Amino acid sequence: REIQLIFQDPYSSLNPRHTVGTIVGTPMLVHNTVPKNKMIARVQELLETVGLNPEHYNRYPSEFSGGQRQRIGIARALALDPKLIVADEPVSALDVSIQAQVVNLLQDLQKEFGIAFLFIAHDLAIVRHFCPRIAVMYLGKIVEMGDRNQIYNTPHHPYTQALLSSAPDVKQAAIGGRRERIRLEGDVPSPINPPSGCRFRTRCWKSQEICANEEPPLLQVGGRQVACHFAEPMQVVAAEEGDIAAQVDEGAADAPHLEVR
Ligand code: SF4
Repeated sequence: REIQLIFQDPYSSLNPRHTVGTIVGTPMLVHNTVPKNKMIARVQELLETVGLNPEHYNRYPSEFSGGQRQRIGIARALALDPKLIVADEPVSALDVSIQAQVVNLLQDLQKEFGIAFLFIAHDLAIVRHFCPRIAVMYLGKIVEMGDRNQIYNTPHHPYTQALLSSAPDVKQAAIGGRRERIRLEGDVPSPINPPSGCRFRTRCWKSQEICANEEPPLLQVGGRQVACHFAEPMQVVAAEEGDIAAQVDEGAADAPHLEVR
């Protein structure tokens, strides 16, 4: 009840045979948190909170767009006043212009209701915008964890460095510059049968004998945690971008909303 989930696909995560009122109201009915005679009012309040027309509580999911459906899923997640919401790729199935709206909505809800979010995503720009603390995973294991500026400005793990170098750098491109991209060789191994020692060793350019024999523990290095025998900082993202991230941190209350033009 205190942990709720926002699913990746707003098309398959809502029952097409149920109205929005039933979808959002069922958790409250199951947990008996709202009297039946106040259910419609509470559902309408939640719809309004997520930016939907409260009069539409009797409509079916098929009558809404992808972004609106995801808002219905968010309203359902809010229904029980959770302390933690796990958002599993909440915008990756949406149109890019809608992604920004939904991310901004989640950020507003986070501030208004004080809900903690575990935000799972592949989009590095959205992660940087939304998450003050970041854990980078490779093959099911956390390889580096720290605050936003640490991870983006001075990544220590080779996988984090390769990941950040693969993201397009629009600012550098605009002034004719190029980010040096780290190209990883080979495919991602099977998580069912991962390599011995460090799971990243089959693709890591720094791999040595110890990497095959000993799994690197997640240790405190330079103010963050890294799982690498040869962790060292590398600046991959331009410093100017780091400054922007720092400004977002300092002025969290006035943090600019993500814009996609
Ligand atoms: S432990 Fe070795 S293989 Fe693994 S990331 Fe570090 S250097 Fe690369």
